[in-house]
Amino acid sequence: FAKNQSELPYAIFNNDMLAENMLRLELGSQLRHSLERDELTLLYQPMVQMCDGTTAGFEALLRWEHPEHGTVSPNTFIPIAESNGLIIEIGKWVLRKACQQAMRWQAEFGRPIMISVNVSVRQLSSTGFVEAVTETLEATKLQPECLKLEVTESFLMQDPESTIELLHQLRRIGLTIGIDDFGTGYSSLSYLHRMPLDILKVDRSFVESMFDSEKNASLIRSILALAKSLELNVVAEGVETLAQLQRLQDLGCHFVQGFYFSQPVKPECASELIDHRWL
Ligand code: C2E
Ligand code: MG
Ligand code: MG
Ligand code: MG
Repeated sequence: FAKNQSELPYAIFNNDMLAENMLRLELGSQLRHSLERDELTLLYQPMVQMCDGTTAGFEALLRWEHPEHGTVSPNTFIPIAESNGLIIEIGKWVLRKACQQAMRWQAEFGRPIMISVNVSVRQLSSTGFVEAVTETLEATKLQPECLKLEVTESFLMQDPESTIELLHQLRRIGLTIGIDDFGTGYSSLSYLHRMPLDILKVDRSFVESMFDSEKNASLIRSILALAKSLELNVVAEGVETLAQLQRLQDLGCHFVQGFYFSQPVKPECASELIDHRWL
């Protein structure tokens, strides 16, 4: 170790980075046991349909209830699970859990409830992903039309040709496909129009900054115009204020989601939101 770090021409690492790496390693090995120890849970955030103010469905969001660190954010542990391969097992668990919950609601409310599941790059491109989805649908008896997969924009463009083929397979089963965090990646328009998609989910950062300048608001307008020409529906995520909601309504956004309506909540609380009229 250098006695004085400022003597180094550049920092190789500092104590913060060291602590972060230790935590990462520690979490990585503990994550292996999280499933058997029953530490993973799903919360559900409602998606509101703009035309009538009803609950259009829920997005399942993963949490890790760590015995010492408390609730760990998926932004922390999903990347770890992706790098050590656990994402495959965790992803299957999420899918099954979410489909079971959707079936439970369907039985209780007597109508189909749409459920959105986030899938990560490594999971989607793993061999047997389509088969795993098919098996889960068969095991839980959920209609494929009730299941939506959210895939990030950056993934779609990594290997567009094989992604197009994969999405076609999922579409053939009857699933709905949405692009998550749209606007933050670098989509090639020529690929985008060949992708079999249903939903475009505008990244939260655009909603957050929509009143900063007229330019920012027009970004959302452009995304809506693009979606229209691609015949896709648009979800705006991260809606926190009435002003944002009203502006998105004026702009013709189809669905909204965010803390203004509800935080992600436990299934028991989500049940109470199913028949709620939001607008
Ligand atoms: P995402 O799919 O883009 O999910 C939206 C995130 O924004 C969620 O964070 C949600 O709690 C948060 N959010 C929703 N409304 C608002 C709002 O009005 N304001 C603000 N500030 N935030 C809002 P969360 O639950 O921490 O998840 C973060 C990311 O982790 C997700 O981003 C998704 O990419 C990933 N993730 C979550 N669950 C899973 C999962 O089961 N599998 C995989 N592969 N990834 C997951
Ligand atoms: Mg999502
Ligand atoms: Mg998102
Ligand atoms: Mg995200």
